[in-house]
Amino acid sequence: MSRLLYVLVDAVRHDYVTGERTPYLASVAAKHGRSRMRPLLGYSDSIRAAIFTGAYPDETGYWMEYCLRPDETPLAPYARLAALDALPWDFARRGVKFVLSQTLVRRTATTHGYKHLSLRHLPFRSLDQFDWTLRRDMSEPGQLAVPSLFDRLSDAGRGWAYLDAAKLGAKTLLRRIDELPTDTEFVFVYLHHVDMASHLFGISSRLFERTLHRTDALTNEVVERATRRLPGIETAIFSDHGMSPVDHVVSYPGLWRHAGFPHRFCFALDATMVRLWFHDDDAQLRDEIRATVAAAAPGRFLQREEIIELHLDFGTRLYGDEIYLLEPRTAIFPNFHSLLKPKAMHAYHPDDLEQQGIAIGLPSVDGVTNLVDLAPNAARILGLEATPLALAG
Ligand SMILES: [Zn+2]
Repeated sequence: MSRLLYVLVDAVRHDYVTGERTPYLASVAAKHGRSRMRPLLGYSDSIRAAIFTGAYPDETGYWMEYCLRPDETPLAPYARLAALDALPWDFARRGVKFVLSQTLVRRTATTHGYKHLSLRHLPFRSLDQFDWTLRRDMSEPGQLAVPSLFDRLSDAGRGWAYLDAAKLGAKTLLRRIDELPTDTEFVFVYLHHVDMASHLFGISSRLFERTLHRTDALTNEVVERATRRLPGIETAIFSDHGMSPVDHVVSYPGLWRHAGFPHRFCFALDATMVRLWFHDDDAQLRDEIRATVAAAAPGRFLQREEIIELHLDFGTRLYGDEIYLLEPRTAIFPNFHSLLKPKAMHAYHPDDLEQQGIAIGLPSVDGVTNLVDLAPNAARILGLEATPLALAG
């Protein structure tokens, strides 16, 4: 029986892995080989979808946590709170949304069959436009257009475990490894600490360095315990992306206050992207909004060929008509997602070297491994049948 352990150490950049900073990872890399992990353009959720399925966003249909879906959104009643958009302090607006999301919005979620629902930091008056993209967890069957590794293992009646340090804590996670059923064939461990420390403290802080060192040691512990529990288990360690320090923070007060928003045009602010929807053919409005977006931050509107190349050509308007992608090291705050100002960010162009993660013990081409290679690699080692996607293609 083949067994496989995947350890995902979130946000460990390829150049962090040295004997001094991450002695364990460096020793494994020396033995089993290393490459750079090329991320995709997107945030952690779309990246996880690609890791679990081996498919890109335009194949799974999933890119962002929320999308423009005015006819279906259960958040529409909250648009009546539009007057609160005029609260003078952004942190007060964020605070109100945080409290509502913990209380009333939870009831709305239950009523409408959503597992998760939040106002995040969407402008109140746009809440009749935006909907939560998935009603259930993406790991539940049928949520993504492509079945995940976990679906396929379950269908084949084979044992697997997904252990998330952010939910379990390190101690419980290690204990769960010790207690894994001995017929478990695939173990996926997710360690979030480096990503969190990067956003909160920045990547040149002492706290960050300590977190990196500790996560390296925790990875060692995870692999040792898994090997003890499930002898002969093969191991690969990888991160999902790198990280850039944030040197400049930009904001878009003109968009938040624009009289044409949200009924003539809509915008979504992610930390590293501005996405736009135009609801009519008014060229003047389009030029004005595009100019406002471009003037505030270095970046570019992605052209169609590039959108196709990045696997973001959805054939729907859910995620935006246009995407303005910022240059690395600049971030948008306030944006629709972050509660705190990030000191380091990912989700810039995947070819930027700072954005690339590490892959240890994984196949690569010209020193690069892609996120979508992980699921097929696991399927091969575990002897799963070819994916339906590969058969269809
Ligand atoms: Zn992150």
